[in-house]
Amino acid sequence: MARYVFITGGVVSSLGKGLASAALGALLQARGFSVRLRKLDPYLNVDPGTMSPFEHGEVFVTDDGAETDLDLGHYERFTGVAARRTDSISSGRIYQTVLEKERRGDYLGKTIQVIPHVTNEIKDFLAIGEDEVDFQLCEIGGTVGDIEGLPFFEAIRQFAQDRPPRQCIFVHLTLLPYLAASGELKTKPTQHSVRELRAIGIAPDVLVCRSEQPIPEREREKIALFCNVRKEAVIAAYDLKSIYEAPLAYHREGLDQAVLDAFGIHPAPRPNLAKWHAVMDALENPEGEVRVAVVGKYTQLEDAYKSIAEALTHGGIANRVRVRAEWVNSEIFEREDPAPHLEGFDAILVPGGFGERGTEGMIAAARFAREHKVPYLGICLGMQLAVIEGSRNVARLPDAGSEEFDHEAGARRFTPVVYHLKEWVQGNRVVERRPDDAKGGTMRLGAYTALLQPGSLVADVYGATEIEERHRHRYEVDTAYREKLEGVGLCFSGMSPDGRLPEIVEWKDHPWFIGVQFHPELKSKPFDPHPLFAGFIRAAVESARLV
Ligand code: GLN
Repeated sequence: MARYVFITGGVVSSLGKGLASAALGALLQARGFSVRLRKLDPYLNVDPGTMSPFEHGEVFVTDDGAETDLDLGHYERFTGVAARRTDSISSGRIYQTVLEKERRGDYLGKTIQVIPHVTNEIKDFLAIGEDEVDFQLCEIGGTVGDIEGLPFFEAIRQFAQDRPPRQCIFVHLTLLPYLAASGELKTKPTQHSVRELRAIGIAPDVLVCRSEQPIPEREREKIALFCNVRKEAVIAAYDLKSIYEAPLAYHREGLDQAVLDAFGIHPAPRPNLAKWHAVMDALENPEGEVRVAVVGKYTQLEDAYKSIAEALTHGGIANRVRVRAEWVNSEIFEREDPAPHLEGFDAILVPGGFGERGTEGMIAAARFAREHKVPYLGICLGMQLAVIEGSRNVARLPDAGSEEFDHEAGARRFTPVVYHLKEWVQGNRVVERRPDDAKGGTMRLGAYTALLQPGSLVADVYGATEIEERHRHRYEVDTAYREKLEGVGLCFSGMSPDGRLPEIVEWKDHPWFIGVQFHPELKSKPFDPHPLFAGFIRAAVESARLV
């Protein structure tokens, strides 16, 4: 039966709870344990799939087609364990299930209440897969004291109470603010946060304290005394140069040791951190630098393209160069010539996105990359727009566009080289969709196989002719234009196994121009960079050497 680590946060949000959880997962793995990381989010959306990236950052898609919180991306990048649908849940999903059961009459006429019906549902969720791993790490979103979060805190309290002693522990993340005027770290907010936790029946075993300044011994003792934890279980979390330093930094501060002590695991197996030292060595000792322009719409919020930013860094690790990614708002290119903006870059990436706004600018960026032979990686929308660009400017289809934009505008303006996908094959069943379907969870989601054309650039990049990648889109490049486009050099080098859905396109007479309908960034890891990102950055290095 798995041991459970519940990770909660207090004082303020955005303390890096997801990162701490991911790093702890990596450290437990380094000591030879198997782990699974899971996220419980208090918001009422059934999943983050319908939220704008501006609201909640990127939506992370799992192989089994769930649209989940971006923290699952951290978990996967740090542990290499593929996230699953059952690794993520929200209050919305819990209530939806409870209400469905109520409508079916499953509760046999009882009054439905938060305790026990909602909390039982959460506990059932927590118990999923408990025989599969040594440790389940469950992060509770939000901060202690939030109204929405209460049922989750109550459920984890009960869950720990139901289990034998020492099977569940609680790690609480707080902030030690630094008052420059008095030159002091203040422990009071942490004390209050722990008091709040204890008022709902949870006594933390380990405290992780975010701090900009070193925590003096005296403050550590004070926190231990007032918060009723051992002094060794007060762990400092300082700001890091790179998130990939987190496993080594937390290990130095004793997080994994404190967790194993709390479970009474003696002697603790020694950790093997070679993998993380290698990652840090590559990051800290780059042999060069490349600049990549990410031309998209959601450029104000860094979290909107989290996995892309990370995958670019991984591509840098693979080539031992530093990648300077710069986010360029595509709307600029609707007013101005992209050339002066893009000339200094070694590569151009157009990421995924929804809606028409900014797309003409992205098309201009794709054109610039094609004409100037700059390495280009188009992801999802970035692939669709590369096809539209080629159709308009090379294949003489001046009205080429996507049905997505026509649907949005309520008018037929374009020749739909990208059309609304109504039917496709998933495993051995046919999935059907209509343009007026509800928005939530209705896209082509999750892992699908693609077959790559032998001899193509992409087959060379992967070193394989059959791949599996994660999807999240409603629209698709129409094969009706394939012949015309291939005639002018845009090769459809990756297709769905039934040959109906274009998965990858590439320009033949270009050093490195690839568009993919899926999201390779979701599967990249620092210790195992995704081949497309490794290849893209290698092409950027080569193009940098040429200029
Ligand atoms: N909006 C496009 C579609 O739905 C692309 C989606 C994406 O980039 N994730 O097909």
